[in-house]
Amino acid sequence: MSEIRDGVRAVRRGKVWLVGAGPGDPDLLTVRAHRLLSRARVLAFDELVSPAVLALAPADAERIPVGRRAAGCRHHEARIHPLVVLRALEGHDVVRLKGGDPFVFGRGGEEAEELAAARVPFEVVPGISAALGAAASTGIPLTHRDCASSVTLATAHAAGDDDIERTAARLPREGTLVLYMGLGRLEAVCAALVRAGRSPETPAAVVSRATLPDERTVIGTLASIATRARDAAIEAPALLVVGDVVAHRVPRVDASPRDELGETLDAERGRRLA
Ligand code: SAH
Repeated sequence: MSEIRDGVRAVRRGKVWLVGAGPGDPDLLTVRAHRLLSRARVLAFDELVSPAVLALAPADAERIPVGRRAAGCRHHEARIHPLVVLRALEGHDVVRLKGGDPFVFGRGGEEAEELAAARVPFEVVPGISAALGAAASTGIPLTHRDCASSVTLATAHAAGDDDIERTAARLPREGTLVLYMGLGRLEAVCAALVRAGRSPETPAAVVSRATLPDERTVIGTLASIATRARDAAIEAPALLVVGDVVAHRVPRVDASPRDELGETLDAERGRRLA
């Protein structure tokens, strides 16, 4: 880890891997993410990373919880956890797991900038973003030849009322919209989308905890979805999907009888998620 050069001890820097952990189901990790995770010595993760994913890391790896809810954590002014940088400067490789994809509303860009500024080598491993996981597991296609030739990923996070209006006005009026981090302001967001030109009858869905065992989906329209989600006591993390694609939802058909391979894989997957 260190070498003596001209009498000076030079410590080799570790590398930080910004790894997409996907939406929750460990089966949705990339092969690369799985390989890195199962060999991690130092692991930093935020609250979006599911326990089933974390369970794939060695039991004796150092675990650094990062994020607003991490106990005693006061670092969120800084964009990357100081311990992540410190461990890398000490020479350790660090697996920094981020929910979904690191570069989709994950602040992976800011973390990468900070690592570059600290001259810490890093690499980004993409992950399945929540919108893609939710689409697959609910059967809502994000594009469809009949009604949606584009999909927009947007966020209404921490926006004041004015900002929601401005954000909604900037969003395309056609095609599919997937809004991240909007659950707390669902009513205001849907109203703003209608004021910005989308019909109140536009099909909409809220998908909560997509790909996790307790995933839930509520279907409605821009006019009704906020009330329906509230009545159903939908919990975060959740996404709002807006557009005619929601009406093209193809709920999963449980094929039976299953072939042997399917049965084996399903049973194995069930055990891992339990
Ligand atoms: N980088 C992540 C997004 C981080 S922002 C990604 O690519 O998915 C956090 C938001 O993502 C949440 O507020 C929620 O809107 C969405 N989200 C993350 N995981 C989710 C899940 N399993 N189900 C539904 N929404 C999810």
